[in-house]
Amino acid sequence: MPSNTAPRAVAVLLSALALSACSAQPSHAFARATTPSPTPSSAIPTVSPSPTAKPKPKSLAWYVAQVPTFPPAPVPVPVQVASSGPATVWSHVPTDQKVAFITIDDGALARPADVPEFIRQAHIPVTMFLNSPAATEYTDYFTRIEATGAVVGNHTIDHPELRGRSYDYQRREICGSADKLQQLFGKRPALFRPPFGEYDHTTAQAARDCGATVMVNWTETVNEGYVRYQTPEKVVKPGDVLLMHFRPALMDDLLGALKAIHKSGLTPALLADYVPGLTDPPTAEGDLPPRR
Ligand SMILES: [Zn+2]
Repeated sequence: MPSNTAPRAVAVLLSALALSACSAQPSHAFARATTPSPTPSSAIPTVSPSPTAKPKPKSLAWYVAQVPTFPPAPVPVPVQVASSGPATVWSHVPTDQKVAFITIDDGALARPADVPEFIRQAHIPVTMFLNSPAATEYTDYFTRIEATGAVVGNHTIDHPELRGRSYDYQRREICGSADKLQQLFGKRPALFRPPFGEYDHTTAQAARDCGATVMVNWTETVNEGYVRYQTPEKVVKPGDVLLMHFRPALMDDLLGALKAIHKSGLTPALLADYVPGLTDPPTAEGDLPPRR
């Protein structure tokens, strides 16, 4: 602290000059601001994190620590679906197995940075229904999620309402996106979700003609971490499909969905495992190599 007012007056004058220089030559001012200057050691905070400290709320470690422990997922028994004609429509997977399915839609609006790592560390099985322009622009992000075992589904190019539109229009939206997603991820999507959940018979036929076996809608929606149920019981039932979006609160949505599934006595599972032929047949325990 200055012991008299003279140096302070000089400092004020100098900073006023610096400010006017700032507005005249902003790039120079920014360059100076980043130049490291010696700092008295007493000014450096000496608090270091303790290894036993609880993770900071809303950090990646905090989210991972909040994930409930689930009963082991049953060996999936795929549900028979038609092999030709319009794609089969599910808003709920017709299975009695104690599983539920997490699906994440769109991709253009927001892609929270910690989501791929959260999905990987917490082993969350997810299906992404992507619009192909978002998948094209942010391929690296979605590839990181896909690398965890997630499945890429098709959600059209432009996210239009398809119901009532011509076959040609619907086919263009669905096949155009399927072509692009196949090019980006090396696999043609076999799962399709119509934007807004709106579809008609033409949609189901176009989906099939573009390579989709099943059109997947949903049972519960999740937003801002809260699960909205479509039935008064407020439980997730076996085979239910939970819908969320690539939005800023996706970390909370994933955690909210996991807690709701756990509270309902279920385990999250991969939707594609319930459609015949989409994933490798599950390995029965008896097929595992003997432990050494
Ligand atoms: Zn959508």
